[in-house]
Amino acid sequence: MNPIEELSGEWGEPGARHRSKWRRILADDTEQMSQADPHVPLRIVLVGTSHPGNIGSAARAMKTMGLRRLVLVAPECDPISEDAWAMSAGAHDLISQAPRFDSLAEALADSTLVIGSTARLRHVRMPEWSPREGATRAAAEVVHGGCVDMVFGRERTGLTNEELHLCGAAVHIPSDPEFSSLNLAAAVQILAYELRLALNDDLPGGDSPSAQSHPAEPPAAHAELEGLIGHLDQTLHDIDFHKGRSPETVMQRLRRLFSRARPSDREVRILRGIFSDMQRVAGLARKAENKDGKEEAESCGA
Ligand code: SAH
Repeated sequence: MNPIEELSGEWGEPGARHRSKWRRILADDTEQMSQADPHVPLRIVLVGTSHPGNIGSAARAMKTMGLRRLVLVAPECDPISEDAWAMSAGAHDLISQAPRFDSLAEALADSTLVIGSTARLRHVRMPEWSPREGATRAAAEVVHGGCVDMVFGRERTGLTNEELHLCGAAVHIPSDPEFSSLNLAAAVQILAYELRLALNDDLPGGDSPSAQSHPAEPPAAHAELEGLIGHLDQTLHDIDFHKGRSPETVMQRLRRLFSRARPSDREVRILRGIFSDMQRVAGLARKAENKDGKEEAESCGA
């Protein structure tokens, strides 16, 4: 069983147990830190990093803030090179334990909230949060038993729009618009700091708007949501919804709608049940149409 599944099983219900666990994980006491649970469900995901030194510095930035879970997606360098080790200044354990994936979509499969960190404000319509708001929402998600991924892009080009579309929201660190791009590890440091502050807050039952508006059931994991969107896409084809128009724009809007709504596992199952019935009825209608067409042709031929 993967560590996140293990955790969500153990931490299914929000409550005091989470709080004390977070306090322990984020405690300043070094002995406690070294015994920290390595499976904190809040991960820093680095996509296509090309400088090993940045991976090392990002690991250091995380470890100083008590975060342990680093994930590497298609790194374009050797993450266990000397440079990475040197820049990690003792945080190399995060790098050697970091799971690696070929694509961002695979890496996010277990996540319930994905936040993309972006140096430029994009023309992608999605919620855009300040670092503080992003961290508050991330902390609320974790405290309620969810799994959060905070995603960082390539040094030269950042995240592609396609990768950003996999995120439920974007976070931008306010900076000079003329020179807006921070060093990757510096961006990780700022967000890791905000996450630390937010996780130290009394989020459950607190005043945080995200904690209040959080649904009673945890949202479905990213892979479930992708399954739902794929099923909807196929259903819309089967019922001929697009009528020759390009499905892309409408699918992007529907994807945003579901990211916003954050349906639970149960809601995803209900929706998929509805889609399956729509597909079945559309199939029956097609068959009946074909039959009518054939009979008409036969009667015309007769
Ligand atoms: N030249 C790239 C910037 C890459 S910096 C671009 O224009 O997109 C590498 C990564 O650091 C970015 O993908 C982003 O995840 C993070 N980052 C850098 N500056 C940031 C900022 N101001 N706000 C949020 N994230 C930032």
